[in-house]
Amino acid sequence: MAAPVRLVFLGGLGEIGRNCMVVEQEGSLLIVDCGLMFPDADMHGIDLVLPDFTYLIENKDRIVGCVATHGHEDHVGGLQFLLRECSFPIYGSPVTLGLARNRIEEAGLLKKTSLHEVADGERLRIGPFDVEFLPVTHSVPQAHSVILHTPQGVVVHSGDFKLDLSPVDGRRTNLARLGEIASTSGVRLLLADSTNAEERGHAPSETSVGAVLRQVFHDNRDRRIITASFASHIHRVQQIVEIAVESGRKVAFMGRSMQNNMRMAREMGLVKVPASTFIDVDEVKNLDPQKVCVVSTGSQGEPMSALSLMAKGESKWLKVGADDTVILSSHAIPGNEGNVNRVIDGLVRAGARVVHSGIADVHATGHAQADELRTYHSIVGPEWFVPVHGEYRHMLAHAEIAASMGMDRGRILQATDGDVLELSDKGLRFHSKVPAHYLFVDGIVGDVGHGVLRDRRTLAEEGVVVIVATVDVASQRVINGPELITRGWVHAPEAEALLVEAEDEIERVLVAALRGGMTDIEPLEREVRRATGRFVHDRTKRRPMIVPVVLST
Ligand SMILES: [Zn+2]
Ligand SMILES: [Zn+2]
Repeated sequence: MAAPVRLVFLGGLGEIGRNCMVVEQEGSLLIVDCGLMFPDADMHGIDLVLPDFTYLIENKDRIVGCVATHGHEDHVGGLQFLLRECSFPIYGSPVTLGLARNRIEEAGLLKKTSLHEVADGERLRIGPFDVEFLPVTHSVPQAHSVILHTPQGVVVHSGDFKLDLSPVDGRRTNLARLGEIASTSGVRLLLADSTNAEERGHAPSETSVGAVLRQVFHDNRDRRIITASFASHIHRVQQIVEIAVESGRKVAFMGRSMQNNMRMAREMGLVKVPASTFIDVDEVKNLDPQKVCVVSTGSQGEPMSALSLMAKGESKWLKVGADDTVILSSHAIPGNEGNVNRVIDGLVRAGARVVHSGIADVHATGHAQADELRTYHSIVGPEWFVPVHGEYRHMLAHAEIAASMGMDRGRILQATDGDVLELSDKGLRFHSKVPAHYLFVDGIVGDVGHGVLRDRRTLAEEGVVVIVATVDVASQRVINGPELITRGWVHAPEAEALLVEAEDEIERVLVAALRGGMTDIEPLEREVRRATGRFVHDRTKRRPMIVPVVLST
């Protein structure tokens, strides 16, 4: 009997973001990706959301390494937090490690890891794991699928990918190698990207975006051009820079991540244009509008980004006006639509012309759509399949695609965060569960917890009522107050009568409790909370947070 292989899903199965999987074989753990997720609008004050690291921390002595499929934040952005708790080497392509490195370095944690560059097609041993790095095309250069050659056969983890037949760097998803494995040893288990499983057809090629951008530059040849895109989308920025150079423009980068990533891309030889192309952003104002192109971050409408500040007229570098065309070469990630709309509105109000993916094909996705997934399944032809990377409905749509390609539904497992699957001689089975809660990060505080978030939601939606009273237990009297202070429940000046009535009612309850022999502060505060809650709800049908403060002389 061959040793079983376990897969532990810590994030990314049920949401877009915080991708993290653990493979367990012969007592060792290999992490595949460790990403973060950006918060929803109702996660008040939360900066980002991480996978639940409980299982990894409890088993940290058994971790042999982390394989990073590519450099997006939803795949490597959690490493700087996990490395506080444990120490392990990280494997990935030069660009993947370059993108991951910045954050780890900023957090002062480089000493907790070692970074190992891998080449396309390279196969290496990490502890007991036999790992092959298969090149795939995605919206960041040098992405990989991970092929695990295990005692239970070949396990393919697609990573994020698309089937772009004419990528900017000519580096296509290596379907030939997948076909070779499928026709020799066969693929025992496939885990594959579900992000775009609901989208029909085939994703457009990245080079087709270049052709559209070239046309937009031509149509706006007498104007200043400002573009915004993801700083990690090096191929997109590369195309923009090349078109700008062709049309006789100088290029200025705005936003720290854009400047850092493009420095890295130029050092690695990914972007080849003369150094004289680039100017500092403070030189922009000295050049004629048609002689300059500004390449900025902020395509997601992030409030403090360079583009948002321009839209609000608060940028110290650039004033956007009627001479400007702004190209948003991007697509809003779910949850960011409101911010992106606000930025577009601000730019239009300032007089700029705005070109976005709603009106021209200035963006292409990095994730395979339904027809690409069909092609992929027909080549890989796995024995077992688990859809990963997506909200539940995306994974369900992906399962349907696999079934439509002739897969037995009994061999498609719908797993979610926290599930542990075991691949053994008997097949693939649900084995157990591990903790997989959202880990909320606010500032530098590791996990603020669900309680804090619940409080913030109540405060945001219902407001707060604080009642302060001083009592003398010996004489069973209320000496001071009760005084009611509120924020966000009722507007105090207009509700004066209501507040007085509430204070009278609470005083009555408090006096009754004291006369009944209640002497401890805690039960007295409980009485006050109950009386206040009842009054507030009876009179206003609202449920603000109630904070009773009873002091004793
Ligand atoms: Zn990605
Ligand atoms: Zn991803």
